[in-house]
Amino acid sequence: MSDMGRYGLLGDPVTHSLSPRLYRAAFAYLQIPAVYQAHRVPRDDSMALRRWMIELGASGGGSVTVPHKGLAASHLQVSSGTVDRTGACNCFWLDSAGRLVGDNTDVEGFLAATTDLTELRLEGASVLILGAGGAARAVALACSEAGVGQLVVCNRTVSRAEALVSHLGIERVASVASPLDVSSGVWDVVVNATSLGLAQGDPLPLALQSDRFGCAFDLVYGPGGTEWTRHAVARGIPAIDGLSMLVNQAVLSLERWLGLLPDRRSVTREMRQAAIDSFRLGSG
Ligand code: NAP
Repeated sequence: MSDMGRYGLLGDPVTHSLSPRLYRAAFAYLQIPAVYQAHRVPRDDSMALRRWMIELGASGGGSVTVPHKGLAASHLQVSSGTVDRTGACNCFWLDSAGRLVGDNTDVEGFLAATTDLTELRLEGASVLILGAGGAARAVALACSEAGVGQLVVCNRTVSRAEALVSHLGIERVASVASPLDVSSGVWDVVVNATSLGLAQGDPLPLALQSDRFGCAFDLVYGPGGTEWTRHAVARGIPAIDGLSMLVNQAVLSLERWLGLLPDRRSVTREMRQAAIDSFRLGSG
């Protein structure tokens, strides 16, 4: 048992997360003896979060989800540039000196997922991001690094969108808007980074028309896509849901823990298949 790596997810809630299935599939494929479990860490229990990060970090590594990505960043002894810029950590481990190290693989995971939709090109594009939480921050940083031409961050709470743009220091390319402001206008790409679509019966994050939106990326994911991606496709707008981003950020996290995977494409395929299987079983 001592050679068994111990990995896990820290968040609240965690019961519906696909991450344990994804990582278990990857460890099984790689024939690495390891367990990966989800642990609920109550919101605001900073000390419990730190204890878990050290414990899992010492035995393998871990992932962080809502609402702890910001708090996790504050516990790190060594943080990547991406953590520093986003203020969020979704992946951690201990280095050889026993220091708690963290990264944010959502940014690269989002960029990797954009390549799955041929119509989606960020360079020079006009991009509308809906939402201003932690995920929107990662998407906005990815967009600015990919050289978008124009970025509008639209959020129900406009002050949060303003804080996002100023925290990332992307005022040159980005502006903010309220949902009312985006009832007209034309964008190459629209990204849903709100939590709308997670719960049954949620309204659509935004009604789409093909003469205003070139393509749509929903960070929420579901079997056969989401209500919003189906809404887009029914109007002739190419769309992708968040499954590919989820899988890509998970593969990148695995590489932070294990080193570069020689067989990255196969691991990605195994993790994606595990997600699709759990949708089929109705447990995703
Ligand atoms: P968060 O920090 O809690 O932010 C939630 C965002 O949704 C905020 O902008 C919030 O607006 C907005 N929102 C919530 N309820 C709303 C409503 N009824 N109407 C309009 N806007 C509403 O969450 P997060 O970490 O950014 O995550 C956002 C989404 O991205 C979640 O669905 C999460 O599962 C998904 N995600 C997916 C991946 C992936 O790999 N696919 C990775 C990360 C996150 P206010 O600021 O006004 O409250």
